[in-house]
Amino acid sequence: MEKTLFELSKEGRRAYSLPGEDTGPFQSIQVIPQEFLRESENGLPSLSELEVVRHYTHLSRLNFSIDSNFYPLGSCSMKYNPKMNEVAASLSGFAKVHPLQPAHLSQGILSLLYELEKLLSEISGMDRFCLQSCAGAQGEFLGMLIVRAYFDSLGQKRTQVIVPDSAHGTNPSSAHLAGFTVVSVPSDAKGHIDSEALEKVLNPDVACLMLTNPNTLGLFERDILRVAKDMHKIGALLYYDGANLNPLLGLARPGDMGFDMVHLNLHKTFSTPHGGGGPGAGPVGVKAHLAKFLPTPVIEKKEGEYFLNENLPDSVGRVRSFYGNVGILVRAYTYIKALGKEGLEKTGQAAVLNANYLFSKLKKIFETPFPGPFMHEFVVSAKPYVKHGVRALDIAKRLLDFGMHPPTVYFPLIVEEAMMIEPTETETRETLDAYADLMVQIAREAQNAPEKLHQAPTETPVRRLDEVAAAKELRLVW
Ligand SMILES: *Cc1c(COP(=O)(O)O)cnc(C)c1O
Repeated sequence: MEKTLFELSKEGRRAYSLPGEDTGPFQSIQVIPQEFLRESENGLPSLSELEVVRHYTHLSRLNFSIDSNFYPLGSCSMKYNPKMNEVAASLSGFAKVHPLQPAHLSQGILSLLYELEKLLSEISGMDRFCLQSCAGAQGEFLGMLIVRAYFDSLGQKRTQVIVPDSAHGTNPSSAHLAGFTVVSVPSDAKGHIDSEALEKVLNPDVACLMLTNPNTLGLFERDILRVAKDMHKIGALLYYDGANLNPLLGLARPGDMGFDMVHLNLHKTFSTPHGGGGPGAGPVGVKAHLAKFLPTPVIEKKEGEYFLNENLPDSVGRVRSFYGNVGILVRAYTYIKALGKEGLEKTGQAAVLNANYLFSKLKKIFETPFPGPFMHEFVVSAKPYVKHGVRALDIAKRLLDFGMHPPTVYFPLIVEEAMMIEPTETETRETLDAYADLMVQIAREAQNAPEKLHQAPTETPVRRLDEVAAAKELRLVW
């Protein structure tokens, strides 16, 4: 176990030393004027520079990251964060800009955000975007506020939001939080939204259908045009959960499928850092008829000058301080500009190819509730191993012993012993082959030596954690 910096501390140790009484060319420089020096100890640990560097390097190695190995967490797009993004975001004009700087001194960053809005609109087929929201979940909540504002403006009191049973948990939560009643519709045997069941719940109280396409099973909702028509026929809106936009990049647009609004997860589709609770970005795009409800401020351009427009009388109001996670927005912009239109297309295609390639290998050892073809991710079931006393969780933990990250397990909820795998477009064929080979090896162990899986992981810095306690009994201080 790595000690804390306070435990490693030795009184009087320093990370630097400056000469004291030297004269002549060796004379020391008074770095901080005497009057600003504190008189008492500051209570921080005392260490050498090398000790500090080693401490943080050790810590970084206790963690799993996309920079260390394959990370196929489904419905999450744990994809590589290109270093070019970091270079752009650290340019001083972006890194040191202050949100309270007046617009005429912030033209560079404002023009980037203005252009990012245009790019995301083009990619998704929407007319306007709000870049403020800081997660997919917050984007959904904002979307639901816009739905409410829209029907208020029409003088209609609609109370229901329809969500398929394969949806991410944030969908019903967001709708509920915005005051709607959630109506769940089942998936059919092929994993798509059950269109007969959907028709049955349509009524004049329905405000919106929230849909993920491809859905969380990795399947494209082929009936989307008809679904959109049915929703619009009863005057309801169609919300696109864009967490799974990856495979459609440059190939298809939610706006063309009939969606009225979308959120995009920049930390999924657009390669910005992900995990550890943020910082994320979940911009929300809308068609023109909903634009007046977007949060303020919106970025506009007049006579060649960019400015923040606070004057939107029908706006749902602000959803985030300043203009969201701007450093993340710079990274996403860089990624999109670096790829270009053709690059985006190839990205979508590679995401689909990688998922189907890995599926074709894993379908031999797992149960396949849905035959595919898949988009960017797929779901298999570990049910065949339950008779050996092995569950999806055991397989997931065993993968860690070999330095590979497990897939998402037990989601979506509608598949028993679900394992949901999203390789992403950034992985090589060799990595996918290695993962498939490892799965075959673990599947063999599950039959011949199940206790190995029950005990896993044994090679990680900590063993099997009590995940409920870890989430509910946080000890954030030493
Ligand atoms: C990740 C995800 C969300 C939520 O996005 P966050 O950025 O994690 O809040 C919503 N829907 C789906 C399908 C997702 O995969």
